[in-house]
Amino acid sequence: MWMADIRVNKQNVYLGVFNSELEAQEARIRAEFDYGVDPASKLEKARLAFEELYIPEPNTGCYLWLEAIRKNDGYGAKRHKKVDLAHRVSYVLFIGPIPRGFRVLHTCDVRSCVNPGHLRLEKHSKLE
Ligand SMILES: [Zn+2]
Repeated sequence: MWMADIRVNKQNVYLGVFNSELEAQEARIRAEFDYGVDPASKLEKARLAFEELYIPEPNTGCYLWLEAIRKNDGYGAKRHKKVDLAHRVSYVLFIGPIPRGFRVLHTCDVRSCVNPGHLRLEKHSKLE
């Protein structure tokens, strides 16, 4: 089982993917120990840091990602140790973990949009 989790490292926010729920739990405990903050305030910090990185577009309601746009396909990207797609990070921060076998799609068709209200899950048509 794969599980997405939020990690906070100073100003950086990134999405961690773990091989098991136990591994994710261990990472949460380590992060809590390292930074001396409870998981709820970690999530709040992560959300605040994320909100600095987009601008709302008043006509469409899209939140346009400012940090980096992937050249080949136009998706917003969140750079850390590895590059994560910004809309996936937004989903995890504001809605919850992405279940295994699901992908995050835009209802607005704007690939650089990170408005959690414009995101939905869809089951992969075939198993990876
Ligand atoms: Zn949108």
